[in-house]
Amino acid sequence: MNVDEFRKHGHQIIDQIADYYENIESERILPETAPRDIFNSLESSPPQKGENFDDILRDFNNKIMPGLTHWQHPKFFAYFPSNTSFESLLGEFLTAALGPVTFSWQTSPAAAELEELTMNWLREILGLPDNFHGVIQDTASTATLVSLLTAREKYSNYAINNVGSAYSPNYRVYASSEVHSSIDKAVKIAGIGLRNLVKINTDSNFAMSAADLEAAIKKDLMSGKTPLAIIAAIGTTGSTAVDPLEEIAEIAYKYGIWLHVDAAYAGSALVLPEYRYLIKGIDKVDTFVMNPHKWLFTNFDCTAYFVKDKNALIKTFSMMPEYLKTAYDDKVNNYKDWGIQLGRRFRALKLWFVLRSFGVEGLQEKIRFHIELGKKFEEFVGSDNDLEILAPRYFNLVCFRLKSGQFPASELNNVNESFLKMINSTGSLFMTHTKLDGKYVLRFVIGKTYVTENNLHEAWQVIQEQKDLFLANPEMYCEM
Ligand code: PLP
Repeated sequence: MNVDEFRKHGHQIIDQIADYYENIESERILPETAPRDIFNSLESSPPQKGENFDDILRDFNNKIMPGLTHWQHPKFFAYFPSNTSFESLLGEFLTAALGPVTFSWQTSPAAAELEELTMNWLREILGLPDNFHGVIQDTASTATLVSLLTAREKYSNYAINNVGSAYSPNYRVYASSEVHSSIDKAVKIAGIGLRNLVKINTDSNFAMSAADLEAAIKKDLMSGKTPLAIIAAIGTTGSTAVDPLEEIAEIAYKYGIWLHVDAAYAGSALVLPEYRYLIKGIDKVDTFVMNPHKWLFTNFDCTAYFVKDKNALIKTFSMMPEYLKTAYDDKVNNYKDWGIQLGRRFRALKLWFVLRSFGVEGLQEKIRFHIELGKKFEEFVGSDNDLEILAPRYFNLVCFRLKSGQFPASELNNVNESFLKMINSTGSLFMTHTKLDGKYVLRFVIGKTYVTENNLHEAWQVIQEQKDLFLANPEMYCEM
């Protein structure tokens, strides 16, 4: 492709994307496709000769698009949102076009300095302490792994990096039973061993019990184990429960334990001063992660990771082979030393575009609006005698289900699974589920960048219609 063709197809694709966003509500959110349908519809061997871009784009439109789930659809209420915004997309285009690989300051001074600046801005916007240093990681899973590895090294005096598993201090890590699976994964990969991840009970709000945490730490100390790290959640995946950070931070401080906060989703709510009470105790936290790629309108991937002891981070990860040395190394941030990757994308650009074009007030307005919509949905559910709410609503996630009524309690999990399947099969909205206390619950998260109140009413209407059909003839829909 030459530059003229690039210009032509570039305009064509921008138009196509703009049309897509303009008409997205007419798309079916979940594709109607069976496993291998897409794979089998594509050429099994690569072309020997280069193909015409129009043909490639046609196949994209005819064969790939129909197999995609529309994550940016405003009635995507599943998982947690992974939002884009137009500003962020434009930043992403430029990052792809310029293609800097931002491992050291010298590889792109502006990229390194913009990353430092946007992380400082974000720290201020979220109300985090001034002594936190920010770096962009690809995902929260990586950031949590980086945090645990840093804790492991700092607490072993960097012994494990040097001698490997021969140094075996019997470390223990503590997190609530509601914690995200990325914590289990990090414990596995960091060589701590899943059996050393102590899952602490939660209270009736699905938040970690601080008393049980302290009891578990005391028990471990009595039996010669070494408490290494606590992971507190601000917004669990199941129900956005918030662990009692202030109490947990006191315990971490008292026993000298590393404290990481996983605020991957709900961290964005900290743009609102009225939510900052949730991070009381943050001054005793070692590391903190939140995802602008979830609820801060910055397209995937962009994770903001904050660390108090940046020297421990750098000492854990720094590698300085001859070919990477530069004349500036003692004066600048070389982000290759702040995490796992060497090659890094210029992610700060899209975040800077978003922060500048929304402004603090714009971010606050959107997050507040989403929380208000969550509250409205909670009121709808609360006023419906066939439904019940199963967890407190902290932000914009409502956990609910069809309640007992005509069904035996023992069948409620199956009943709700079938009900969810029925709703999603309409294609006009998409929700996912979890289990809380063994109970199957439907999760409704309302937080897409361009969602409107009208979308909420439309979704509620679909839920009502499907519920009436379901309750009129449950045997027809239930897989019992
Ligand atoms: N932590 C929490 C609370 C999450 O909800 C998620 C994902 O939804 C993660 C961590 C993992 O995020 P990522 O996909 O950025 O690794």
